[in-house]
Amino acid sequence: MSGPVTPVDAPPDQAPAPPEDHPCVEFLPSHLTRVGELEVRRALPRRARRNVGAWCFLDHMGPAKVTEQHGVDIGPHPHIGLQTVTWLFDGEILHRDSLGSEQLIRPGQLNLMTAGRGVAHAEESTGRYRGVLHGMQLWVAQPDSTRDGPPAFAHHADLPVFDVEQGAGTVIVGRLGDVTSPARRDSDHVGVELDLRRGTSVMPLEPAAEYALVVAVGAMSVGAREVEPGGLAYLGTGRDELAITTTAPARGVLIGGTPLDDPLLMWWNFVARTRSEISDAYDDWVAASERFGTVASRLPRVPADPPQWHPRA
Ligand code: MN
Repeated sequence: MSGPVTPVDAPPDQAPAPPEDHPCVEFLPSHLTRVGELEVRRALPRRARRNVGAWCFLDHMGPAKVTEQHGVDIGPHPHIGLQTVTWLFDGEILHRDSLGSEQLIRPGQLNLMTAGRGVAHAEESTGRYRGVLHGMQLWVAQPDSTRDGPPAFAHHADLPVFDVEQGAGTVIVGRLGDVTSPARRDSDHVGVELDLRRGTSVMPLEPAAEYALVVAVGAMSVGAREVEPGGLAYLGTGRDELAITTTAPARGVLIGGTPLDDPLLMWWNFVARTRSEISDAYDDWVAASERFGTVASRLPRVPADPPQWHPRA
C-alpha cells in the first residue's frame, strides 16, 4: 500500500494523545479512502490516535473482487523511516522494490520491507489471480537506531502459529507470550493475526505495552464492547491478558508495543521527525535520485505535491 497520509488522517503538527493508564476499549472509526483502485479503511493514523506503540499506519483493504490485471496496482513510490507489513486474508499481490526484490505474497505470509534512509516499491496485480483480495498493510516507525540505515526486504512464508481456546493465532512480528516471529523487529512491537471460532479465547499481554484490535471478518467482543470491521479498538495499557469472545467465526489483527516517547512526523509515504527530513526526501523523489533507486514495474511512478511548508508549495 501507499499513503498518502493526508491532513484528514492526522495533521502533522498535532501532538499524540497521551497513553491510557488503565484498561479501556475506545473504538475509533476508520477513514474511508482510496489507494490505487481499491477502497481502504484507514484505521491509523487518526486524529485521536496517531500510533499504537511503533505501529503508525493501518489500511484494511477489501474484501474486493480483483482480476488478473486490475487490483491493487500501486506504481513505484518511495518510503523512508518505516517498515511496511503486508498481510493478506485472501488473494495475492506482487511486490517489486528498488532492491530488485520481486515477491508474490499469499495469505498467511508476511512481506516486510524496511525503508531506512530510502526505498521505492510497487504493489501490483499478479497477472494470474482473479477473485477476492482482502488484507491489511501496516507501517512500523523505525527507531533512531535504524531509520537512517540501509533498506531491506524479507518474505516470511512460515510464521509461528499458536492455539488459543477457540481458535489459533499467527505471530506476524514480535512476541506474544512465549511465541516469537522470526521477522526482523527494530522495536518491541507485536502484530498477531487471530482466527477464532465461537467462544472465548484468552491471550497473554504485556502490561507496559498498549494494544489495539482491528477486526477484518465477523465480530469480536472485548468485555461488553463488540468490535466489528471499520475501525480500531484501542485497548490501552495495563492489561496482562486479553479475553476475546466471539459468537461466530471471526478474524482480526492485534497490534501492540510500548507507547512512543516522541511524536512522529508523517507526511505522504514518509515517517520522520523533522520537516527538513521530509522535504529532502520529497526533493530526492522528484529528482529521481539514486536514493530511491528504480523499480522494475510496468506502472508509472507515483507523483506527489510538495509538503505544505516546502518552498515549491
Ligand atoms: Mn508503499
